[in-house]
Order: sequence, then C-alpha cells, then structure tokens
Amino acid sequence: MYDVIIVGAGPAGLTAAIYACRANLKVLVLEAMTYGGQIINTPSIENYPALFKVSGFDFATNLYNQAKELGSEIKFEKVVKIIPGKEKEVITSTNSYKAKAIIIATGAVSRKLNLPNEDEFVGKGISYCATCDGNFYKGQVVAVNGGGNTAFEDAIYLADIAKKVYLIHRRNEFRADASLVEQAKKKKNIEFILNSKIIKLNGDDKLSSITLNNNKELNIDGLFIAIGKVPETNNFASVVKTTKDGYFESNEECLTNQEGIFVAGDAREKELRQLVTATSDGAIAATAAIKYLKLF
Ligand code: NAP
Repeated sequence: MYDVIIVGAGPAGLTAAIYACRANLKVLVLEAMTYGGQIINTPSIENYPALFKVSGFDFATNLYNQAKELGSEIKFEKVVKIIPGKEKEVITSTNSYKAKAIIIATGAVSRKLNLPNEDEFVGKGISYCATCDGNFYKGQVVAVNGGGNTAFEDAIYLADIAKKVYLIHRRNEFRADASLVEQAKKKKNIEFILNSKIIKLNGDDKLSSITLNNNKELNIDGLFIAIGKVPETNNFASVVKTTKDGYFESNEECLTNQEGIFVAGDAREKELRQLVTATSDGAIAATAAIKYLKLF
C-alpha cells in the first residue's frame, strides 16, 4: 500500500511527489505518456521566477530527476479508473495499486478544431506541437491557428524555420502576452489573418490547403493547431466532481468531493493555468495529503 499515488508526471504531479517524498511518504507516480507534461514542448520558459530562459525539456528533466532522487517510484502506465474509499484503488491498463491518498494531476490535452479529415491529416500536415514537428517544414509555408500564448510562441518559433507563417485567429484581439505579440509583429514572414476561422481542411494524402470562413483558400504545407487545451478528466469524472467544462472541482487545499483525493495542475478549475500555478498546486495538494495522512 502506498501512502500517496500521484496520477500524472507533469510539473504539478512531480512537485507533489517532491513534497510528499520529503515528508517521508511512500510515493508512486503513474504517467500515461512521458514525464514533463505540456511544458516539455516549450522552447524557452521566461516567466518562471528565478529561472530566466530555461528550456521546457531541461525544466521537466530536472524536475523528474529531483522527484526520483528524493525517492518517488515512477511508472509509465495509464490510469483508467480509481475506486474511492478509505483505502483507494488505482487501476491502470496493466496493474492495480492501493493507496491511502491520491493526487490527480493529469493536465490537459490540445483542443481539436473538430473538422472532417483532422485526425487523418495528423502527421500529414497537421500538428499540435510546433517544437516537435516544426523542423519538418523547413523553407515551407505553414499556418498557426489560435490567439493565445501557445499560438504566438509557435508562430515565432516557426518563423525561423519556415518560409512563411500565417497566424490565423478568430478575433482581432489576442489572449497572448503583449511581449509575445510584439515579438511576432517584428517577424517579417508572419502574416496575421484575423477575424477568421478555418472551416475546411483540403488535400488527398496530406493537407495541401485550408478554407477560411470568407471562403478564401490558403495553400499551406503545414497547419499548427494551438487553440487551447481540454482537461484530461474523463477517466475520473464518475468519481471526482467536475465543472460543466470538465475541470476538477476542488477547494483551496486542492481537495475534491472525495475523502483523500486531491487534484493539482491544469485539470483543476482555476483562473490561471501556468507553470508556476501548476507547481504551486502540486505543493498545496501534497501538503494537504500529508495532513490527511496524519489523521488516517
Ligand atoms: P488559450 O490561452 O486558451 O488560447 C486559446 C486560443 O485559441 C484563444 O485565442 C482562442 O480564441 C482560440 N480558440 C479556442 N477555441 C477555438 C476554436 N474552436 N477555433 C478557433 N480558435 C479557438 O490556450 P493556450 O495558448 O494553449 O494557453 C493555455 C494556457 O497556457 C494559458 O494560460 C497560457 O497563458 C499558458 N501558456 C503560457 C505560456 C508562457 O507563459 N510562456 C506559453 C504557452 C501557454 P479567443 O481568444 O477568441 O477565445
């Protein structure tokens, strides 16, 4: 029996693991994909206090090593179900584990445009990660869809690789930080297409063009979709209460409606989803779990 099982090895989950290990708890972290969560794809983090300009990969790797060094057991298994109760059960696709407390830090995944052909064109002209796939489009024409920080970071990153980058956004105001908007405006090969939506993805074996809502067709080699995230809460929604948008509901201590089940990071309902609030959640959830275990 583990003291705490943490679901998700992103910044929130791994920070929770660090705090729990330092309180001498027996900790298991379960991760479905790879460690690091979304931040691993960020080329340069510039807003994390005291770490000016660190790559997402370096940040995630340091965090992973720190959690391991302090004693976390980390396994790469997808959690498919949790069974609440005083002694909780965590079921993965291959195993089942018991724990006194659980911290769910499953984060969020890229939102899709939900257009016909979108899934078929993934890896054939469509990507949700510019730093992963940008290099395939050297000297070519690409488009980025979205008006948030991710879209702007992607467009700036791609402008140094591709010949031309269209930044397509459904409004004429941006959600992205002003500093990123300024940087993008300075890039000569970024063209802004505002008040526009992509309504059609065209191509045979691979994406060759997109149609916008004014019926204009743009010939492109690649489309990077950066229109936000959706929380990864589906596998737990029958146990932990969620909002109408699917985010976990919790109190200030990251406690859910279930005794001894806490949540942390981007999958939790909150105002600001940033690296700093993810690590902060991890610390808060682990501290609350430590307090809970003292009375177990
Ligand atoms: P986001 O801030 O939610 O922005 C999503 C963008 O996509 C918005 O501009 C939105 O338009 C647009 N959008 C949403 N649904 C759409 C649809 N169906 N069709 C067309 N456009 C759509 O998402 P994000 O950029 O992925 O960022 C997520 C969080 O991570 C944010 O809190 C962000 O600040 C943070 N982040 C921070 C950094 C950094 O600090 N360096 C880097 C990356 C991400 P509207 O504006 O019209 O709603």
